[in-house]
Amino acid sequence: MGKRIVVVGSSFAGLTAAVEIKGKLGAEHEVVVVSRTDEFLFNPSLIWVPFGLREKEEITFPVRPIFEKKGIAFRHAPATALDLEGRKVVTPEGAEPYDYLVIATGPKLDYAAISGLGPRGGHSQSIMNWEDAELCRTAFEQLVAKPGPVIVGAVQGASCFGAGYEFLFNLAYQLDKRGLKQKAPITFVTAEPFLAHFGIGGFGSGTPMTEYFFKKLGIEAVTNASVEELVPGELRLADGRALPFAFAMLVPAFLGVDAVRARQDICTPAGFVKVDGHYRTAAHPEVFAAGVAVAMSAPDKTTVPCGVPKTGYLSEEMAKVVAHNVVASIRGERLVELPPASIDAKCVLDAGNTGIIMTADHFLEPRKHAWLIPGPEAHWAKLAFEKYFLATRKRGRV
Ligand SMILES: Cc1cc2nc3c(=O)[nH]c(=O)nc-3n(C[C@H](O)[C@H](O)[C@H](O)COP(=O)(O)OP(=O)(O)OC[C@H]3O[C@@H](n4cnc5c(N)ncnc54)[C@H](O)[C@@H]3O)c2cc1C
Repeated sequence: MGKRIVVVGSSFAGLTAAVEIKGKLGAEHEVVVVSRTDEFLFNPSLIWVPFGLREKEEITFPVRPIFEKKGIAFRHAPATALDLEGRKVVTPEGAEPYDYLVIATGPKLDYAAISGLGPRGGHSQSIMNWEDAELCRTAFEQLVAKPGPVIVGAVQGASCFGAGYEFLFNLAYQLDKRGLKQKAPITFVTAEPFLAHFGIGGFGSGTPMTEYFFKKLGIEAVTNASVEELVPGELRLADGRALPFAFAMLVPAFLGVDAVRARQDICTPAGFVKVDGHYRTAAHPEVFAAGVAVAMSAPDKTTVPCGVPKTGYLSEEMAKVVAHNVVASIRGERLVELPPASIDAKCVLDAGNTGIIMTADHFLEPRKHAWLIPGPEAHWAKLAFEKYFLATRKRGRV
């Protein structure tokens, strides 16, 4: 009898898992995607939005046509609860029953953890989604009109450090281009114990390379930073220091989304799904997870808590393993085991007109190799990858 597979989420992890599962199983089994949004946003390009370098239509595309073409049903609705006992995903439009469930819901942004954090009701900017990046554009225009001290960084518990560094270097480049380097001095405030720790204990020669860039660009660094609160024009650290700012962009900590976090039987307290090397939950072996929704332990203990970043490439690779294992479970075949720490790493850190290509055989230590290639070719590689990614995913090629 045909099985029904429900995938919650339609981004890097969800789109990949759904397309791969349907491609392997064909018409005999039903694949349904339930997603809060019906658009795919290539969020690595959000770092350019505040500088007017990208418009929404350039970095988003509708997902419904892709799913329809592939014979995948699409429900544009948020999952409000996961009824794992009844094997149903609850949405305001009704319940979606499943035989196998893939959770690919990404993060919830935890602005509420710090008083005054975030662009809505707070005093800092963010680039974590389209709406926040657009607000950040207005704030950047105000900074250009009336320059002053700038703070960029990632607060305690944050995991998306790469976006913080990319925004930092792009901002430095844009301010320099406008002759505002002296009038808008930048301080980078981060929970990391040292620069380019990234929440993963560092990456090859990334730390000396980043320290060199900071020196060259005149950027001050505050590491081991624990942000107490933000009030208008001032960031207050837990150690009593107060840093003035005319503009601040801070990456928040992530939580699991509400419907997932409510299921503490399969989650960490923060709401990330605990899975084995097959990406299966222990309590419900028919429930899998991929992408940012997956819980990953930090490889080292830091003075100030840092989360483990889960990149787009890592999210897609996890989704491919999940797809294989869902299909193997249905067919009674062997499941593959590839924990996230063992997946290879591929990333480009953009810096405006230059950057760093980063690649390693393992996402986490121990690694046999970790290469960092700095130079303008990294910036061009990021631009080329953006075009390649959007062109292929728009056609449903994962
Ligand atoms: C500014 C920025 C820059 C980045 N740069 C890079 C980069 O250069 N390279 C890189 O590799 N990675 C980068 N990343 C990280 C990358 O974007 C993430 O790894 C990736 O988005 C994770 O994919 P995901 O599918 O797990 O989650 P997400 O992309 O967050 O997608 C979650 C999906 O779940 C849906 N959803 C959420 N809640 C519900 C619900 N309750 N019900 C139904 N659907 C729901 C959402 O609508 C969405 O479709 C960057 C991230 C940001 C924010």
